[in-house]
Amino acid sequence: MLDPSEKSFAAGAQAPVPDVERERCDFIYRRALPGTGAALAFSLLLSAYLLRVRPAELVLLWLALAIGCAGYFAALALAYRRSRESAEPQLWIRRAAFAAAMLGASWGFAAAVFFPGAQDEQVLIAFVVALVTAGGLPLFSTVWWLYALYAAAVILPFNVVLFAHGTAFFRVFGAVVPLFYLAAVAAAHELASVFASAYGVRSAYRRLADDNAEVQTQLAEQLDSLLEAHREVQAYGRKLALFSERAPIAVLETDARGTILEMNPAAENLFGWAASEMLGRNVVTMLLGGDDVARTEQWWRDFIAAGKPETLVVDEVLRRDGLALACEWTLTPLLDEDGKVSTIVLHGRDMTQQRASERVRSEFTSTLSHELRTPLTSILGSLQLLRSGVMGDVPKDQDELVEIAEKNSKRLLDLINEVLDIEKIESGRMSLTPEPVQLDELLREALTLNQGFADRFSVKLRLEGEPPRVMVRADRKRLMQVVTNLLSNAAKFSPPNGSVDVMASRREGNVRVGVGDRGPGIPEAFRSRIFGRFAQAHSADSRIKGGSGLGLAISKRLVEMMQGVIGFEERQGGGTTFFFELPVLAAAERDAAGPVRVLITEQDTVAAEYLAMVLEKAGYRVDHVPNAQDSKVLLERWHYGCWLLNTRLPDAGDALALLDELQAQLRDTRVVLLASLGTDRVPVPESKRQRIVDWLVKNDSRERILDVVEDAIGPALPRAAA
Ligand code: ADP
Repeated sequence: MLDPSEKSFAAGAQAPVPDVERERCDFIYRRALPGTGAALAFSLLLSAYLLRVRPAELVLLWLALAIGCAGYFAALALAYRRSRESAEPQLWIRRAAFAAAMLGASWGFAAAVFFPGAQDEQVLIAFVVALVTAGGLPLFSTVWWLYALYAAAVILPFNVVLFAHGTAFFRVFGAVVPLFYLAAVAAAHELASVFASAYGVRSAYRRLADDNAEVQTQLAEQLDSLLEAHREVQAYGRKLALFSERAPIAVLETDARGTILEMNPAAENLFGWAASEMLGRNVVTMLLGGDDVARTEQWWRDFIAAGKPETLVVDEVLRRDGLALACEWTLTPLLDEDGKVSTIVLHGRDMTQQRASERVRSEFTSTLSHELRTPLTSILGSLQLLRSGVMGDVPKDQDELVEIAEKNSKRLLDLINEVLDIEKIESGRMSLTPEPVQLDELLREALTLNQGFADRFSVKLRLEGEPPRVMVRADRKRLMQVVTNLLSNAAKFSPPNGSVDVMASRREGNVRVGVGDRGPGIPEAFRSRIFGRFAQAHSADSRIKGGSGLGLAISKRLVEMMQGVIGFEERQGGGTTFFFELPVLAAAERDAAGPVRVLITEQDTVAAEYLAMVLEKAGYRVDHVPNAQDSKVLLERWHYGCWLLNTRLPDAGDALALLDELQAQLRDTRVVLLASLGTDRVPVPESKRQRIVDWLVKNDSRERILDVVEDAIGPALPRAAA
């Protein structure tokens, strides 16, 4: 492959670039003045001699002709010089050709006119012709055809005269002259192509020189910026050293094995060791290990393998004097060219004070809240008792006051509960009890439970479409709290007579629940803060609509604790949709949760044992109790998929009323009513059809019993063969 300079050289040598014409033109006109000067001097010399031997008029005529032709060529050269920039080379070459032909012809004329005569003059003329023909070479040979024209104009008349002269010698001489002409033209041709090659070389060289100059400039610029960068790096290094020296936090540098290489004065102050005592020791055993060095060593190995920045909170970093510090470490690995960790920069922040004050604050808040909650609960209870009328009728105006007191006590209680929740979450004391939860049923229940609240704002809560029948692993009570918060927010911010739409859909391995309203939307500036503590878009919200600004903060943390995400988006057509996503419980996991529990509440022991036997054989886990009281205890403790409930119980008059009373404990439990005889059936109102799914009578077959229970809650265990 050619390098660029070679390429341009080759191009120049073989096929001259178009500007070679201009160079040729320049060359011809540059030599025109000295050339015509020499021709003029030579004509004067010759005419001085000829005046003595030839007719004066003829000599003077020729001299005038020669001066005219030379003058024309010189004038052309001057004109070209003036207009060179805009001159069209081809045109000026043609003009030069005309001038050359004229000049040549003036000499040809001299040769033809002055040759006949004495022998001396004939030799002179022949010499003059040869000289003038050769003299044209340096002048015109850059354009060979131009030279050919010139030489022809010189030689042709002379040759004609030679032949006309008639002697044998002159005829031989005349035959040789064209050969001389051809040789001269060939030389001109050769010179022209040498000129073209030289031009190619020259322009390639010029380009090379230009490129070189450019490279030099670029190199100089790069050198300048390198120097500048070097100065900046030096200044930056000084600044960094200063930062680390003066920083109030501990800064250490270690190698990949954790050997301390450098540290700043703050680290000496914080840990009480002099640098000379710490350098060369291992940071894990000395500062990061806390109470479990072996585990931290494993953590360090994983951290080095990952090569990514990490933070680590160590509760017990022992100072030299034995005092324990809580320290938050930020570890930043620096990688070498192969991507391997070469050194690690550790920033250590003393959190002892912060931890202590957080503990005090947390203890204070929770003590205060507990101290407030206990009396407040009894105030609320008393107010509710008063309003219930048990203590006698309350006059209307007093009832209104009691109602206000009750409402505000409730608000205060909600607030205290929320403060306690957030405190628990943030101090890490909130523990969830995850269990498989039938999400669609939870949503239906949430809608029913919150409709009363939504009614206050004349808002209807609706389920949009049929939610997918999926289970999630969640803390049922806390998930209900999240849904309730989203529903009550949506209801509060909806316009009167509006509706709140709840939709659920599957998204790969997740289920997404959306709560959409047609409210005012979330102001742009508030969006980033909405999940923060005590965040409210308008402080007037709490007065007008109620609320503390804690609901979403709690919801976010709860959803995250259940491995989910929560967010919101603008709703098409106006309003907001708040949503959360939770992982769907895989069938295998759901089954691993153990067999489905069934509760039988039946006084007739024989009938109950028969039912229990059939269901246990099918894989259900069955509990049997004879009355409502025991049922309540078990329902409080366990979650039952299905409850087989006799409509006649010794301690509960009405089975339907009992179901109403146990609404909260029942969650998604399906109920199958048991009747002694077919005629025992009580009518089931429409509103309870969701819960009460079927009937069984005592003499029903095993198949019928299993069909009814499986229809209600599915098989006890996956049927591998099915
Ligand atoms: P609050 O108890 O005040 O409702 P949240 O944390 O639940 O507390 O909500 C915080 C704030 O977010 C609300 O005060 C309100 O400004 C805004 N917000 C929440 N939900 C909605 C909604 N659906 N539409 C408009 N604004 C909302």
